[in-house]
Amino acid sequence: MKIAVLASEVLPFAKTGGLADVVGALPLALQYCGQEVIVIMPRYKCVTDSKFKINRVSEDISFSVIGKDLKVYFIENSSYFARDGLYGDKNGDYKDNLERFSFFCRRALDLLKEINYPADILHLHDWQASLIPVYLKNIYAAKGFYSRMKCVLTIHNTGYQGIFEKEKFAKLGLSWDLFGINGLEFYGKVNLLKGGIIFSDFINTVSPTYAKEIQTKDFGFGLDGLLRERKEVLSGILNGLDYSVWDPMVDKFIIQNFSAETLESKVFNKEDLQKRCGLPLNKDIPVLGIVSRLAEQKGFDVLAEALSKLCKMGLQLVILGTGDLKYHQILKNASEKYPGVISLNLKFDDPLAHKIYAGSDIFLMPSKYEPCGLGQLISLRYGTIPLVFKTGGLNDTINAKNGFLFSDYSKDGLLRALDHALLVFKNKAKWACLMTNAMNCNFSWSISAGKYIKLYAKARAR
Ligand code: ADP
Repeated sequence: MKIAVLASEVLPFAKTGGLADVVGALPLALQYCGQEVIVIMPRYKCVTDSKFKINRVSEDISFSVIGKDLKVYFIENSSYFARDGLYGDKNGDYKDNLERFSFFCRRALDLLKEINYPADILHLHDWQASLIPVYLKNIYAAKGFYSRMKCVLTIHNTGYQGIFEKEKFAKLGLSWDLFGINGLEFYGKVNLLKGGIIFSDFINTVSPTYAKEIQTKDFGFGLDGLLRERKEVLSGILNGLDYSVWDPMVDKFIIQNFSAETLESKVFNKEDLQKRCGLPLNKDIPVLGIVSRLAEQKGFDVLAEALSKLCKMGLQLVILGTGDLKYHQILKNASEKYPGVISLNLKFDDPLAHKIYAGSDIFLMPSKYEPCGLGQLISLRYGTIPLVFKTGGLNDTINAKNGFLFSDYSKDGLLRALDHALLVFKNKAKWACLMTNAMNCNFSWSISAGKYIKLYAKARAR
């Protein structure tokens, strides 16, 4: 099959979150399975000639290569994309995001013809690429070149939909007939993700449980009704983990490499982490790690409530993250109150993240909702046992054999699960068994890519 993957961020070129990890890894896994794949994204300021080998195609199109020969095309437009941020700056979202990403979508469709790439499948990600099926079905499909193309839309988080004021609709170049309950209208505004859901042939999200959850009021963020209507073409496929990046056997950021067969070496990473974080060196004290955006979605409301009790449970807590200033402050206060218990690192720091995954005993991820989640998959790989809230992708990847789940989203629910985990931690044989199970889990991209190929085949057959 000929596949074109379209997204607003792709590793290694630009990243704000898990979306970039997925779009950087899935195309390579698809290609490995024998599919023909290209990727198209905007060319932001960070995609420089000095950092990457860029080849020119035309005045406003260039490309680079990932893997051996997979082309990533860049749509250039200096007034829209040559900025420091991808979607916004310290003042919030850019005011012209609708113009920026509608431009990206139309230009990407034109590009397919210019480079003579008659894709069987357009695989779109999130609201930024959601206008592609809208334009395709309402404008482009009438032209022969585009008439057989099918669209698969992946939703990475229903919390982000691309919602704009009604007045902006005119900028899309679409008929006003499409501004209505059966089109892009959403409570009087324009909703780009809604357009993608209506006009795509298949829709998927990044875990089976989240695919069900988004059809409910609590997780659908207003789109649950529409998603229920489209449930026949809605499914969930777990994200994979890039095991070439996350592998304790060869990880260059950690002090001691180890595997499921040399688990006893993991303790050197714990010692190193305690030392770096200024925590008392003691291998018998359980170390809890957190690597996360500091946001309510990630469970920081419940964690903040539980913090003072948690700090008296005979453990150490290493936190790495940035985000909501409210949580910066709460965690700062707690770390000052409990020195020697909390190590707080308010920054984005990839090497330290690796050290935390490798050196902790327990990985805390009490997300209120979690479409898929990467943190728990990484920690499994490093024999660090996840303690998670039973939701979304956490529910699909963590079970009693490889971690701890709690299903009552509250301070008490979290503390009860932690109490249990600490009890098991004291039983060395049981803990070693958990670690081995965790490290032997396989969430590689090859499995997920196979599922995407089946989904594409279904879309093509429609
Ligand atoms: P998100 O909803 O933020 O995409 P995921 O769990 O899917 O959450 O992915 C988050 C990714 O970002 C993981 O690879 C995690 O290790 C990384 N990460 C998050 N915060 C930080 C940080 N402060 N420093 C380094 N890496 C981070």
